[in-house]
Amino acid sequence: MSGSTASIMTDQNKVINFGAGPAKLPHEVIKNVQKELLAYGNTQISILELSHRSNDFNNVINNAQATLRDILNVPENYRILFMQGGGTGIFAAVPLNILKTGTADYLVTGSWSAKAAKEAVKYGKVNMVLPKTTKYTEIPDPSTWNLDPNASYVYYCDNETVHGIEFDFIPETNGVPLVADMSSNFLSKPVDVSKFAVIFAGAQKNIGPAGVTLVIVRDDLLGHPMDICPTVLNFTVMANDNSLHNTPPVFQIYFVGLVFEWIKRNGGVEGMQNLAKKKSSKVYDIIDNSGDFYTCPIKRDARSKMNVPFRINNGDEQLEKEFLSGAAARGMLQLKGHRSVGGIRGSLYNAVTEKEAEALADYMKWFCNEHANNLENK
Ligand SMILES: *Cc1c(COP(=O)(O)O)cnc(C)c1O
Repeated sequence: MSGSTASIMTDQNKVINFGAGPAKLPHEVIKNVQKELLAYGNTQISILELSHRSNDFNNVINNAQATLRDILNVPENYRILFMQGGGTGIFAAVPLNILKTGTADYLVTGSWSAKAAKEAVKYGKVNMVLPKTTKYTEIPDPSTWNLDPNASYVYYCDNETVHGIEFDFIPETNGVPLVADMSSNFLSKPVDVSKFAVIFAGAQKNIGPAGVTLVIVRDDLLGHPMDICPTVLNFTVMANDNSLHNTPPVFQIYFVGLVFEWIKRNGGVEGMQNLAKKKSSKVYDIIDNSGDFYTCPIKRDARSKMNVPFRINNGDEQLEKEFLSGAAARGMLQLKGHRSVGGIRGSLYNAVTEKEAEALADYMKWFCNEHANNLENK
């Protein structure tokens, strides 16, 4: 019995992981990690046992930064930090480090930016740029935004993982520093880093295992943390000590470095973007051509290329259950929508292949044909 479990775990063709996070990682990278897990490089010890003060680890962290700088075109005046506390930790770190005038603008377009705004309220005044809503289905037109010209920063979430809402433009802030949560679409497309003050991303959606959060911060924003800012969330301390102030998540940094190299070998962020467009349109096309059997609640221009949420037959929970169990029987896993929105969510992160997205689209098509007729005959 343990033999059959092992064969499923080693044969990636048997299951497809559409989970929202922790999510699918490049199989090639996991194999590589497995191969060198017992002895890293020439050290004869595991990366799990390696001192963060060693030269070997210094190379790991510097190489990871250099590769990221290369693939994302990160300008020289930006620092790359490896932090802990997850995306949620950075929700607090942002105001603790850069909320200088006491007011910050928050664009709340889904549950993750809502959580970030709620956290920031603990440390200063938050100006809600958009009208309050509980039904997130769009990005309101920028002409309607209530931006405060005196705000310390404008905060937004580039891809709302739960609702499936993604920006396809960079918000114009008229010179106010811009902060972006890119946890769930980091390195899925080219980004003009020079337009941002801070970009951050928890690793577990698109670039690695949970436990490390990437922060890219423009260096003029350093040096003004609040007195109460915890040392581990202090961007200035982390930048000065090259993320080695205390013990960093050694294994996770090593892993994300390998993922950065994998992206570089696979067409870079442009390659990831092309792939994301192809994969997501396969699924959206099925939704749009299903005669409303499938519906995506998100306005077209805000549809996410990473997380595709949809309902079946107007939110028919029985049918959605059937869809999920049929998917699982075909090896398609973790497709259940977030508990706060229900329905189905297919996450199509960088490591999900075009073929895998096609398998989901094919199954959706089959399921629709099978059931749409039944519904009509009822
Ligand atoms: C998952 C997620 C977070 C929270 O990350 P944690 O590491 O669980 O704290 C924040 N923002 C976005 C967009 C996410 O998808």
